[in-house]
Order: sequence, then C-alpha cells, then structure tokens
Amino acid sequence: MAEVRFPFLDLRPEVLGIADEVTEAVDRVMRSGRYLLGPEMERFESDFAALVGAPEAVAVGSGLDALLLTLRALDLPAGTGVAVPAHTFVATWFAVTLAGLRPVPVDVRRACLTMDPERLFEVVERKEVGCVVPVHLYGLPCHMAEIEAICDRAGIPVIYDAAQAHGATYLGAAVGARGTASCWSFYPGKNLGALGDGGAITTADPVLAERLRRLRNYGSAVKYHHELVGINSRLDEIQSAILTVKLRHLPRWQEQRRRQADIYRKALEPVGVRLQEQPSGVESAHHLFPIFVAGRDALQRHLAAEGVETLVHYPVPPHHQAPYADRGFEMPVAESACNEELSLPIGPHLTDKDAWAVAQIVVRALDPASPQA
Ligand SMILES: *Cc1c(COP(=O)(O)O)cnc(C)c1O
Repeated sequence: MAEVRFPFLDLRPEVLGIADEVTEAVDRVMRSGRYLLGPEMERFESDFAALVGAPEAVAVGSGLDALLLTLRALDLPAGTGVAVPAHTFVATWFAVTLAGLRPVPVDVRRACLTMDPERLFEVVERKEVGCVVPVHLYGLPCHMAEIEAICDRAGIPVIYDAAQAHGATYLGAAVGARGTASCWSFYPGKNLGALGDGGAITTADPVLAERLRRLRNYGSAVKYHHELVGINSRLDEIQSAILTVKLRHLPRWQEQRRRQADIYRKALEPVGVRLQEQPSGVESAHHLFPIFVAGRDALQRHLAAEGVETLVHYPVPPHHQAPYADRGFEMPVAESACNEELSLPIGPHLTDKDAWAVAQIVVRALDPASPQA
C-alpha cells in the first residue's frame, strides 16, 4: 500500500489549531454543573441562526433527528408520500421512513446532481406527495426557487436537508431561512462539526420551532408535563460550547475550501473532467469535491497508488438499499452518478499547494500524455 500523502479527511488540524479555545469551553461547562438544555445550547442556537440567516434555530442530537423531528412536527397522515432525491446519503430517506411516512424518489439532474424540479413537478401533479425534502448535495444549494414555486402552488411544505451546506449561499443569502425549515448535521466530518454527534433545525416559523423544542425533550415544555410524544435528542452543553467556538472560525475554513475547489476546477475543467455544475448566483459550501468519470474504480486505485485518498459518495443509491430494494424504483441519473462519482480530498487539513498537487496527479492519471505542469 502506498503511503497516504493527501488524506481524504483529517479532523485534527482543524480542532488542534484552536485547542486552547476548545479546552477553555469544555472546562467552563465542566465547572458550570449544567450539562443539558442550558445557556451554552441557547448561545449556540442564536449564533447558528445568525450564521445561516434564520430567525430560529433548534439544536438536537443529530442531523437524522433534525429531519425526523421536523417531519413529525408537520403531523402528516401516516403513510403520506414525501419526495426525496434519488441521490443522497440514506439518512434523508430513513428520516421519512422513521417518521411513518413513505419516501417517493425523484431523480436528480445530471449537471448538478440535486433534485430535478421537472421530475418533482410530475409527482406533485399526480398528488403522490404531501411534503418535499430536497438536499443541498455536496454543499451545492438545490434549485430552491423552482422547487418552492412548485410546492407553494400545491400548498406543500419544503424541508431542506442542509447537512452538507453550512456556509452555502443562494442569490446572495445563506440557505437556512427559506422553505418551511432547514435541517443541519454537526457530525464531526461536516463543514461545521462537533467532537461527537449534533444537529439543528432552522426556520422562520416560531410555532414550528416551539413544537420542535418540545419534541426534542420528551414532548415537554414544562418539566413532567408532556403534551406530545417526544424523544430524547438534545445537543449537550459541551458540544454546544465547542460548536460556538468552531463557528467563529468557519468563515476562514470555508475560504480554504473555496480556494481548493477553485484550484481543482481550473485544473480539471480544461481537460474535460465532468464536475458538479455551479449555477450562477449560487455558492456551494464545498463540503465535498466530486468528479464524475467512467472507469471510476480504476482511477481510484491509481490515485491511491499515488498517495491520494478518495471516497465514493455514494456507491449504492438509497432505492437499492435493502429496506427499499423490493419497491423496484428505477432512477437512471442517480444510478449512473453512483457508478461514476469520486470525491477528491478537500478541507482545512489541506493547503492550496496540496490541492494543486492532487489536481496534477488526477490530470496525469486521466491523460498520461499531458505535459507536466
Ligand atoms: C450527514 C448527513 C445526514 C445525517 O446527519 P447525522 O448527523 O449523521 O445524523 C443527513 N443528510 C445528509 C445529506 C448528510 O450528509
């Protein structure tokens, strides 16, 4: 096995670079005697709401819970269809199933890999769905205006899965305030990650936010009075304090991702590598940097031999996973993406020079005749 020169992900440089601030935050919580539903969570909720441009943020235990609780808060009849993209991490679909609802897959657009509004229009016209959960996949905002126009006309809510989109903007504004709600994950590897699990919902609807605050804490606003059947999904004080610290550094880390994505784009576009299209007026959070190539597995092996670690997002689409396989869905664009996608390393653990070096290795791997830059 070749030595890894360019790891896909290394979470240490990010957090160790601010180790003093993180240690101070953990120490403060330890000495406070308050470990759940306290001032650190409230502080983080208000800082995070401001960051993503939303009036309300409700912190919960994970990104999956953010989606699940929001779907439950809508009180849709059991078994209602929920439109989900055919190409996403499986959590988007599981949240629907766990909420007692039924995922209705909508294929993605080949150019941007997010939910295709024309396909969505068809399932909405056929009255197959009572809610839509689009995903800002790889950090790229989905076609929000088109999707909202379709849903507003039909009177159905839009819940954005924003688990990969911290820092993304759409028409100049952060993506967290549009639609009915946006659901976020603070899984360690996300653009804003805890040192453990975490999640949040942002919304402009104060009634929904209040309902979510109960649902995350046993359906209770007043101790031992339970108006709803809720669950236990609370962002603890230690993770909240750490996330408040990390949030202050997010713009700097985002800038690093943006520069690396630019370097990749400038090197790979001229040699004809298919990339995720970036529509004008939209700025991706660059959570991942996917490329799409025939012969993906061979390229991945070649890059590994050169010390470049890559990952596939995702090798198997949700509709081919065991819990959904018997429903016989065919989603050709999502299926071809699963065969061709390869994610290059990106993030604060890499320098611009690293990104440039990785790009050269990819260019040479795809075209051994190309001159060395
Ligand atoms: C990470 C992720 C989730 C789930 O978040 P967790 O915090 O791991 O539960 C949901 N949707 C997408 C698209 C994700 O990438």
